[in-house]
Amino acid sequence: MKHILPDLSFKYNELEPYIDAKTMEIHHTKHHQGYITKYIDALKNREELLDKDVEYILKNIERVPENVRQTVINNGGGYYNHRLFWEILSPKKSVPSKNLEEAINRDFGSFDKFKEEFSNAAATRFGSGWAWLLVDNDKKLIVTSTANQDVPFEKGYPILALDVWEHAYYLNYQNRRPDYINSFWHVVNWEMVSEKYKNTL
Ligand code: MN
Repeated sequence: MKHILPDLSFKYNELEPYIDAKTMEIHHTKHHQGYITKYIDALKNREELLDKDVEYILKNIERVPENVRQTVINNGGGYYNHRLFWEILSPKKSVPSKNLEEAINRDFGSFDKFKEEFSNAAATRFGSGWAWLLVDNDKKLIVTSTANQDVPFEKGYPILALDVWEHAYYLNYQNRRPDYINSFWHVVNWEMVSEKYKNTL
């Protein structure tokens, strides 16, 4: 299959003032593209692996030759995570579906408590990584974070993700990661997150 940089559903400047256009452009065209290019390169001459979607490869990582496995985890993770990240961002105001809202209340107590737990996971992730909202095997919603470009498939299926690598916010926020996290809540595409939640049930 073709591994190409996905288009965004919005323009680089449309998430301003929460995420600035320059950050979006570099993040998409340089960082995300870089992960995809290195992913393809790591699997060159392995057509049977390149034919699969990156999600399948990450979930079946033992099929990847050991000498390139960590490279595929890193760059395949970067490829997958940013694809998800762009999908769950939008300049358009939206709210969680009734279903998702009920599940959030059920599993976190309230929407505010969920936000607090997720924000805290994002703020306290030491160094580079991601915060996640996952649907686990019991269909329960859980929050976690991972280092680097690791995807927590072993804990559940990601329906919301926040990139807390410095490249995601440093141009505009410098060291103020908590301000970036607060801004993130203004640009979440809850329609997409709700759709992803529905697909896991
Ligand atoms: Mn990133």
